[in-house]
Amino acid sequence: MEKITSILKETLDLVFECSKDQHPYEFAAAIRAENGTITEIIPIPGTISGEEHAILPLHMLPPDRSICGVIHSHPVPDTRWSDEDLHLFGKFGHIHIIVAYPYSKNSWKAYNQKGEAVPLEVIDTHF
Ligand SMILES: [Zn+2]
Repeated sequence: MEKITSILKETLDLVFECSKDQHPYEFAAAIRAENGTITEIIPIPGTISGEEHAILPLHMLPPDRSICGVIHSHPVPDTRWSDEDLHLFGKFGHIHIIVAYPYSKNSWKAYNQKGEAVPLEVIDTHF
């Protein structure tokens, strides 16, 4: 598994926009990484958004080894994972991002599959 150390700023900004659009419902998507940088979000077909949590039919994702985890939003100003989130972290991918209300650069956090916070650098360009 490749170690993820950064995320593209435009990808993160897109997540903020999508999270605002979905508010007060949760937004969720798979994330794809290239050479250790998260570069893309991938909609999960059949995702059902709810106020409590989104239902993610992860089996609908394409078989793509660059998909490294899931990003989802919390409509409340709290980036901590729930028990349900931790369950998801443990069964799918190896990096997970929670973007909390108000969906800005100070309201998100990345975690590994054990729920431990992982520092991610936000970068402007990626080669
Ligand atoms: Zn959550």
